[in-house]
Amino acid sequence: MDGLPGGSTSVTRVIKAGWLDKNPPQGSYIYQKRWVRLDADYLRYFDSNKDAYSKRFVTVACISRVAATGDQKFEVITHNRTFSFRAESDVERKEWMQALQQAVAEQRARARLSGAYPLGARGLEQPDHAGSLELRGFKNKLYVAVVGDKVQLYKNLEEYHLGIGITFIDMSVGNVKEADRRSFDLTTPYHIFSFSADSEPEKEQWLEAMQGAIAEALSTSEVAERIWAAAPNRSCADCGAAQPDWASINLCVVICKRCAGEHRGLGAGVSKVRSLKMDRKVWTETLIQLFLHLGNGAGNRFWAANVPPSEALQPSSSPGARRRHLEAKYREGKYRRYHPLFGNQEELDKALCAAVTTTDLAETQALLGCGAAVSCCSGDPEAPTPLALAEQAGQTLQMEFLRNNQGTGVPRPDSTLPLEKHYSVVLPTVSHSGFLYKTASAAKPLQDRRAREEFSRRWCVLSDGVLSYYETERAVTPNGEIRASEIVCLAVPPPDTHGFEHTFEVYTEGERLYLFGLESAELAHEWVTCIAKAFVPPLAEDLLARDFERLGRLPYKAGLSLQRAQEGWFSLAGSELHAVFPEGPCEEPLQLRKLQELSVQGDNENQVLVLVERRRTLYIQGERRLDFVGWLAAIQKAAASLGDTLSEQQLGDSDIPVIVYRCVDYITQYGLTSEGIYRKCGQTSKTQRLLESLRQDARSVRLKEGEQHVDDVSSALKRFLRDLPDGLFTRAQRLAWLEASETEEEEEKVSRYRELLLRLPPVNRATVKALISHLYCVQCFSDTNQMNTHNLAIVFGPTLFQTDGQDYKAGRVVEDLINHYVLVFNVDKEELRKQREEVTAIVKMRVAGTASGTQHAGDFICTVYLEEKKAETEQHVKIPASMTAEELTLEILDRRNVGVREKDYWTCFEVNEREEAERPLHYSEKVLPILHGLGMDSHLVVKKHQSMEAMLLYLASRVGDTKHGMMKFREDRSLLGLGLPSGGFHDRYFILNSSCLRLYKEVRSQRPWSGAPETSHRPEKEWPVKSLKVYLGVKKKLRPPTCWGFTVVHETERHEKQQWYLCCDTQMELREWFAAFLFVQHDGLVWPSERSRASRAVPEVRLGSVALIPLRGSENEMRRSVAAFTADPLSLLRNV
Ligand SMILES: [Zn+2]
Repeated sequence: MDGLPGGSTSVTRVIKAGWLDKNPPQGSYIYQKRWVRLDADYLRYFDSNKDAYSKRFVTVACISRVAATGDQKFEVITHNRTFSFRAESDVERKEWMQALQQAVAEQRARARLSGAYPLGARGLEQPDHAGSLELRGFKNKLYVAVVGDKVQLYKNLEEYHLGIGITFIDMSVGNVKEADRRSFDLTTPYHIFSFSADSEPEKEQWLEAMQGAIAEALSTSEVAERIWAAAPNRSCADCGAAQPDWASINLCVVICKRCAGEHRGLGAGVSKVRSLKMDRKVWTETLIQLFLHLGNGAGNRFWAANVPPSEALQPSSSPGARRRHLEAKYREGKYRRYHPLFGNQEELDKALCAAVTTTDLAETQALLGCGAAVSCCSGDPEAPTPLALAEQAGQTLQMEFLRNNQGTGVPRPDSTLPLEKHYSVVLPTVSHSGFLYKTASAAKPLQDRRAREEFSRRWCVLSDGVLSYYETERAVTPNGEIRASEIVCLAVPPPDTHGFEHTFEVYTEGERLYLFGLESAELAHEWVTCIAKAFVPPLAEDLLARDFERLGRLPYKAGLSLQRAQEGWFSLAGSELHAVFPEGPCEEPLQLRKLQELSVQGDNENQVLVLVERRRTLYIQGERRLDFVGWLAAIQKAAASLGDTLSEQQLGDSDIPVIVYRCVDYITQYGLTSEGIYRKCGQTSKTQRLLESLRQDARSVRLKEGEQHVDDVSSALKRFLRDLPDGLFTRAQRLAWLEASETEEEEEKVSRYRELLLRLPPVNRATVKALISHLYCVQCFSDTNQMNTHNLAIVFGPTLFQTDGQDYKAGRVVEDLINHYVLVFNVDKEELRKQREEVTAIVKMRVAGTASGTQHAGDFICTVYLEEKKAETEQHVKIPASMTAEELTLEILDRRNVGVREKDYWTCFEVNEREEAERPLHYSEKVLPILHGLGMDSHLVVKKHQSMEAMLLYLASRVGDTKHGMMKFREDRSLLGLGLPSGGFHDRYFILNSSCLRLYKEVRSQRPWSGAPETSHRPEKEWPVKSLKVYLGVKKKLRPPTCWGFTVVHETERHEKQQWYLCCDTQMELREWFAAFLFVQHDGLVWPSERSRASRAVPEVRLGSVALIPLRGSENEMRRSVAAFTADPLSLLRNV
């Protein structure tokens, strides 16, 4: 029953339904059986319980009382009509009467609460459109009212006023269609209502009103319900009408539809009007919270503090009265409560800067409304604007409020001039005309080739922002038209995609796709350019400068504004995605082939395309299905490898092709100790298959131990390099390299190589370096793998120079490059040390594995805690060599079934109990080397990183990459290794830049707010940042002066450990320093863009034969951890 139309929304939940006898119409004695249904708003009766549309409805609001009469009968009494019913039993009658009385009482309570209507009067909702219409099947004209999402039918105007009607149609299932001149059909799955209006213009009005009702019905009231939770928001801030479902997001008031219309008339510079129901995407959690905190209560205490009763609005006020009132209220600020600082600009601005760091939103509202400048200068270089101040203070609601008020005007009481600022986008006017061939528009992407016959010749005119198409050039009325403002995307498929050589596609907001074709490339290009100019606003016109395959607007999130989606303009040209963001700075194009990640997230309904480039992430939302699907395919295609040459590959970090990176990484993980690595050949078929999939889309290939043999991977890499059309050293320069190898003097030879290296194209240069660096590591383990430099050179010489290997020149080049690796490639010592350490850790583990006799073993078991160190939270995890901190974190969360929500920054921490300090591991850190370094009093725990959000906000908002300031410093001078700390904490000045941390004893002249202060002399100390380990916390024994301290460990090249302590004055400072360290240490990548739950490389599991080696702990612990695995085989098999 409840599935029937009109009975299923939350507001109209059925209270009671059942069969009743209805008193006979006049002149008859026979009772009629009726299906009666009561909900909060209506009492209705139907011929049967199968009917969708009632015979009669009575609005609950106009029921004055319910009375029992004889014989199980009862009466529903309205102002001047009485309806009699008879129930089957007394019990049933009692139930019906109670239900009715309660509904009436609740209706009255609601009316009282909204305060809009005096008691007893009917809460008649103002119709959006009403009047007489003929309805087929009825002799007399009916009175029809379009109210909200319903179309109500009444016998006449009188009954309309009484609140007694025939039926109403819930427009969520409705559809309206023109029939002929004056008539139109309202179609629902249950019935077709054929109406006739008195005239054609009237019909147009009806169509528009009913279409509005459909839009309203399809909108969701989720946001509205939440905003109405604050009582003042339940009636219009301006006229008091009930259930207002519009809002001004900068004034932060909730208003009714009628007032919203007038607000719009004030211009976006005064009021930014949005619908609570239709502009779904605008309503972020933060904005909703802001409306709950400010909203109509606070809004009117400020804007309507002094409204003379004669100037107040009523729900029924005329449009003119509304306009006058709203102009006075918001543009002139006539009724506002004056702030004591009114008129003193400087003081107002200062007060604003102070207010935004607090939770006092009403004060901010009052200051802004009295003239404080939203973008005034705070005088603080770290936070130059009120917005930045609010951000620094973590006041997200203040931030939201300020953002919404950027670009709005201040009321000017003395001014009658219209506001100069007008924010609507003015599209350029472009005119063009000519014949185009056009297919019928489609609602789905075009998958097949459209034959020539499917196109019809149309005369097309682009003028005044409308593209119209006509049967012939002399036709008067167009067959159809496309408004430029509705165009969301323009795409140019490659030639010969369809029956016409040249085609272009136009996508509209209404999810239609129009395909046009032409013979001539020139004419097609002309049309594309003209249409592009007609729909792209001036701010994005740079996108038109190059030939694009696709151009249009899309909702996106990026950079600072991850809170809410905005609309940006994009064009795809080759493998570059160009973007223009209305509120952001000019963007570099995204190099699609260099993306670190390209994925589609979310469900079918709500897809998001995630593009991760180094240091930036872009989310494109699939709000509109049709053009999004097109963009998705085009971007995916553009991000794939183009061909066989090196620079056409998908590229990773530092320009190394992903294909090379994947193989090298795999060999590093699993092949360094494999005897004859790179000399032995893999199986031809396996090698070929692997190479093929790598060539297709290396980014998505995950090499897994156990699935690929190291020799297959090494062969694939060799094959790839050997087959490069131009070779790694390029045809042009190959000979020069071979000649250089004959130089006798070593020093001269090295400098010759360095010269030649610089001449290589960037991608080749980066690849040579990566490869030689890898081979350098391979030969470090020649004791095990038998591949010394000479052996590697024999293999790689002919491979890289594509020679037959007859003479050794090519081999000598490779040998020289490996031997002089540090010199030729100018390798940083720190970099080399780290690389060797990581590789050594991996190999140690491999060796341990082989020693115990199994090929796949060597996984360490480690104890990790969830949230805190307790026996109940203990988890034993196998740590493969490749496991990152992020993977470990997800593993633990998975096991404990912890869902990861947005802004839950789950992180793995290394906790040092002795030092009372902890270090959140960077997500990309490999866990295994860390485990090797953990002392007995350290453990790993996975918990939420509470400061991460604040740190990310800080990093996103700061200017420049350096950080400087005073901190309290203390050194830990271990006396003769006795671990006796000495000295206390002293103020020192620190400067952190992209490579090192410098400590200065004093600052000579520290002028406030003048950028970097002058420092007295050379730094007292200096450390390379990348070799520092920064822990949060300082042990209490040292008596740190504040509770916001760091413990910093520095390991020198000679593996000497130094340790010292830093203290900040506030938690905010601590977070900022910590964030700055992370930023420098990890090249700006502080948090993964998107937690990928891609399958992790889990080695083959062999229960019973796997050597499980606990990393540390007593023998008992070891037994326990082994037992934990064998007892719970699922935990082993779950990822297999
Ligand atoms: Zn209103």
